[in-house]
Amino acid sequence: MKYIIRLSSYARKSSLLKMEAPKMSKVCYSSFMHNKAYINGQFVTAASGKTFEVRNPANRDLLGCTPDMDVSDAQVAIDAAYDAFQTWQNTTAKERALVLRKWFELCEKYKEDLAMIITKESGKPLAESIGEMTYGSSFIELYAEEGKRVNGEVVQSPSPSKEMIFIRKPIGVAAMITPWNFPNAMITRKAAAAMAAGCTCVVKPAEDTPYSAIALADLSQQAGIPSGVFNVVTSSKANAADIGTLLCTSPKVAGLSFTGSTAVGKLLYKQCSEGIKRIGLELGGNAPFIVFDSADLSKAVNGLMAAKFRNTGQTCISANRILVQSKIYDKFVELVKETMQKQIVVGDGAEKGVTFGPLINESQLHKVENLVKSSLDSGAKLLLGGKRHEKGGLYYEPTIIEDCAEHTPCFAEEIFGPVVCLRKFESEEEALAIANSTNSGLAGYFFSENLSQVWRVAHKLETGMVGINDGMISAAEGCFGGIKESGIGREGSHHGMDEYTYFKYLCFGGLN
Ligand code: NAP
Repeated sequence: MKYIIRLSSYARKSSLLKMEAPKMSKVCYSSFMHNKAYINGQFVTAASGKTFEVRNPANRDLLGCTPDMDVSDAQVAIDAAYDAFQTWQNTTAKERALVLRKWFELCEKYKEDLAMIITKESGKPLAESIGEMTYGSSFIELYAEEGKRVNGEVVQSPSPSKEMIFIRKPIGVAAMITPWNFPNAMITRKAAAAMAAGCTCVVKPAEDTPYSAIALADLSQQAGIPSGVFNVVTSSKANAADIGTLLCTSPKVAGLSFTGSTAVGKLLYKQCSEGIKRIGLELGGNAPFIVFDSADLSKAVNGLMAAKFRNTGQTCISANRILVQSKIYDKFVELVKETMQKQIVVGDGAEKGVTFGPLINESQLHKVENLVKSSLDSGAKLLLGGKRHEKGGLYYEPTIIEDCAEHTPCFAEEIFGPVVCLRKFESEEEALAIANSTNSGLAGYFFSENLSQVWRVAHKLETGMVGINDGMISAAEGCFGGIKESGIGREGSHHGMDEYTYFKYLCFGGLN
């Protein structure tokens, strides 16, 4: 009885849920897909007139061509944001909350349309894209309110003739570089916090997914967010590095917030050091997912399905190394295999019933393919899948491999794909030693019904976030971020605003 997977409760929570095609609003999603960037309140082309193609990863259909901006365009956006900051910083938190709230309401109103854009450009199943919209918009809703609680402090002065106060100020222009895997939420998580604090933004979205950013710009304009407060600079991969360097080094930019790979994060960190910029980094993970003997196996399997297969395994907090205690190992593996075969429906995310889309691009497909191949060459055993899907294109089969060791490539590296990599362990100490033997420290998960073990392991896992008997930890109210080489700073929760403010110490002297 204990082993029966509670599909219905999972389905309610899960992103793998099969759902009816949502009703679109009267406005068609494509009306938000401008082939323009957005600078200083205007939809604009690149000064060079160049564009780059954006294709649907599900079928490689051309979605459109967006401006391939370079540093000269990015400089215009920085100037606009810098000028807008001079007035935006003087608005009250309540005034900012009103327009942010309006932005949130418009994102909710057009949720299905913007979700369809996410699906078209990222390949994500529509149900998951709607989930991303709900998640993404919830940051705008949260920070519209949190902005009103950015308070200072009055402290006890050591001298009778002085009073000491700390006030919090917005840092200025905040630059943001975001990835393709959450093309809406990775922008709102940063921009809403920054704007609520009184900062202005220059956003550079990923080459694969510019349209979600442009759609957000459209709704920001409709919401009445003043010109120059929210800017989107689109570019191809060819211009990303130069634009990144400008954003990190421009004296008009006060801070950079980046979500993406650890390799690029390290480069940007170095570049920001020159001007001592504020920096927030949300980088790659290599999440351990530990199932102890005492675990409720249905919770653990459901947790794994959510933490492994959401967005076809392409999330930074995806379960990467699955460690299962020996007594329950065989049963757990059997249940995972059975559940995968029952629940996963591969296809174009815009089609009804699909729960598993393609990988984002060729390079991601090659990466996953090579990681699996080299893992099998180095001694891991294949239990399921292990090759490109018969649908062709960018589809890869849901895969299970076992007997992974620490040096197995799929264990040593973040896979960013739909591969369950298993390893059997005997003791809690052994599981923790394996889990912590990495330079990444973003998320970790474990399943145990033993209360003492729950507390011990929660304290000892070396990650910034821990899912305990839960595979879905993301929420605007949660404090998201990593330790070790997985990042600096936190996004979400009230701490997500810390990155965009600084304390100014006011000392009132000569008082009678
Ligand atoms: P990526 O290559 O680092 O790209 C992320 C962003 O950086 C894109 O906008 C990209 O633009 C831009 N970029 C690339 N090279 C750059 C450079 N030299 N200078 C400035 N910008 C540059 O990462 P990805 O492969 O797209 O995303 C996957 C990685 O992101 C994974 O490692 C994942 O774990 C991590 N991630 C982390 C979180 C988190 O919250 N911790 C969330 C999501 C993803 P182009 O697209 O034009 O190249």
